[in-house]
Amino acid sequence: MNAIPVKLARSGVSGLVIEWSDGQSREYSVRELRDACPCASCREKRSQPPAPANLLPVLSLSEARPLAIAKMEPVGNYAYSIEFSDGHNTGIYTLELLQQLGQETGV
Ligand SMILES: [Zn+2]
Repeated sequence: MNAIPVKLARSGVSGLVIEWSDGQSREYSVRELRDACPCASCREKRSQPPAPANLLPVLSLSEARPLAIAKMEPVGNYAYSIEFSDGHNTGIYTLELLQQLGQETGV
């Protein structure tokens, strides 16, 4: 039997807290969720080698703004789709993945 979220709450500007049916409470940073995005294009991006160090990194406007969750809605009864403030919304976060991310908060 898997735990399911019983409460979603924002934590500050760029954090998320999920309370689970097993009594656990986990806190996530939006950046962590975005970096762990399970969609195909993000997985591909992560598997590529980092850019050569002699290239100056380009910071896009969306990256310079603090990242936030624009929308989060259930997908069936096993996952959430999360839309980020940078417009990215193709990641489907299974409950299993959400339980591996974040940090348990002391209750
Ligand atoms: Zn993605």
